[in-house]
Amino acid sequence: MTLLADSPTSAPVTHPRPVPAAFRPQGRAHVPGWWRDAIGVATWTSMLVVVALWVAGGGVQALAGWAPGVTSVGRLTGLVSADLLLVQVLLMARIPVVERVYGQDELVARHRLVGFWSFWLMVAHVVAVSIGYAASAGLNPFVQFWELVVDYPGMLLGLAGTLLLVLVVATSIRWARRTLRYESWHLLHLYAYLGVGLALPHQLWTGQEFLTNPVATVYWWTLWAAAAGSILIWRVALPLYRSLTHDLRVEKVVRETPDIVSVTMRGRGLDRLDPVAGQFFNWRFLTGPGWMRAHPYSISAAPDGLSLRVTVKDLGDGSHALAAVKPGTRVWFEGPYGRLHTGVRTRRKVVLMASGIGISPMRALLEALPQEPGDVTLIYRARREADLALKAEIESLAAKSGARLFYVLGRRIAGRDTWLPETAAGLSDAQALHQLVPDIAQADVFLCGATAWMDAATAAAIGCGVPADHIHTERFSW
Ligand SMILES: Cc1cc2nc3c(=O)[nH]c(=O)nc-3n(C[C@H](O)[C@H](O)[C@H](O)COP(=O)(O)OP(=O)(O)OC[C@H]3O[C@@H](n4cnc5c(N)ncnc54)[C@H](O)[C@@H]3O)c2cc1C
Repeated sequence: MTLLADSPTSAPVTHPRPVPAAFRPQGRAHVPGWWRDAIGVATWTSMLVVVALWVAGGGVQALAGWAPGVTSVGRLTGLVSADLLLVQVLLMARIPVVERVYGQDELVARHRLVGFWSFWLMVAHVVAVSIGYAASAGLNPFVQFWELVVDYPGMLLGLAGTLLLVLVVATSIRWARRTLRYESWHLLHLYAYLGVGLALPHQLWTGQEFLTNPVATVYWWTLWAAAAGSILIWRVALPLYRSLTHDLRVEKVVRETPDIVSVTMRGRGLDRLDPVAGQFFNWRFLTGPGWMRAHPYSISAAPDGLSLRVTVKDLGDGSHALAAVKPGTRVWFEGPYGRLHTGVRTRRKVVLMASGIGISPMRALLEALPQEPGDVTLIYRARREADLALKAEIESLAAKSGARLFYVLGRRIAGRDTWLPETAAGLSDAQALHQLVPDIAQADVFLCGATAWMDAATAAAIGCGVPADHIHTERFSW
């Protein structure tokens, strides 16, 4: 069976050619690869420094005895845990270079991983310090724990901070996360900042490393100030400044399909924002109480310096409300963010794969990618033709640029994790992709859509010989 035969267009297959200079990544969104190493080195260095503080505070010598040894292990786990907590905060502070190096998906994955280690080291810290002190004092560890909390300076605050962090971690476990509304989960997650803040005093007031070593205190304050400053600058001050100076307002709302609308916004000096096709912003439409919650939407047209457009599927309260937004409505925003953009291209050939509303950034990429006929292929997966958003625009762009365009329509195949519809059930995922794009192994692949679909499409691309680092993704839900 063949998927190609059912597809509406197909341009001649061209052979891989090197990426000409004009097609190479440029602009602010492109970050040289060494930044990734630099960020990794900085993270590991911060951990080495806290281990050094522990050594300088007599941590190693204390290991000689049972009770001081357990307490010392508790101190070490506490220090590393606190360091990782700050790394977590820094990862989500939207520091431009960090954001551009990792992109949203990888940042979220790293935030989870670092959070996992930080949390369990914190638990180890509480347990080991309680047991170690109890052994020294000849007390029951639970009694000792309570005495530590009520007798030592900053410990009640530390306990409150720990409980908040436990709450955040518990509600972030996947099944718990699924049962909560996004708004509730997000609100609870903000308590993590409070938790981190409350944990600080007990370290400085009771930690042996800080009581005996002013350098340690200076280092710790610097790290905390950097984390708090990053949040204030990049998550609060910059978005506020940009929202006020660019004065973005809704120009028009266009219905694309029964459940998808496009919203075009105009503002002052948008060229200075320098967004790149494929990126997203967090938007707040100032229509009423809903403005408190920002929604991430990708830009669905190549930025022209005058306007920005998003194309949004009605999936809940916030996205539903967009259809009724009036022209002139003020819009606040954070961004541009994300790594799914023209700047990460490494090859001349590009395959854009979208499912459902994942077409939004792909439509912008199709327009913005420098290309010659046959260089770019767009594969657009939807259930029915009526669900295809931006169809006329996409066809006109493909006709102009000579991009290949395939619609892959139909219901999902029951009981199979696949990017294909029922009509292609006779093909493996990689076979079907290879049929559509025989030279895909020489291409960069950009993917956006529902999580399970993206996983299947990624596996198919890898199965066709595309190296994992040439596959660029953006997930619309975490
Ligand atoms: C980087 C990124 C780019 C996106 N681009 C687009 C786009 O171009 N067009 C589009 O239609 N949708 C896009 N989305 C998805 C869109 O943000 C959500 O569908 C929307 O926020 C849902 O909000 P709601 O109040 O309508 O629905 P809710 O009922 O609150 O949520 C519906 C679903 O969306 C998810 N969601 C809600 N808010 C967020 C959030 N702030 N971050 C991540 N997931 C969330 C939830 O997990 C939930 O399952 C994007 C998401 C991300 C993360």
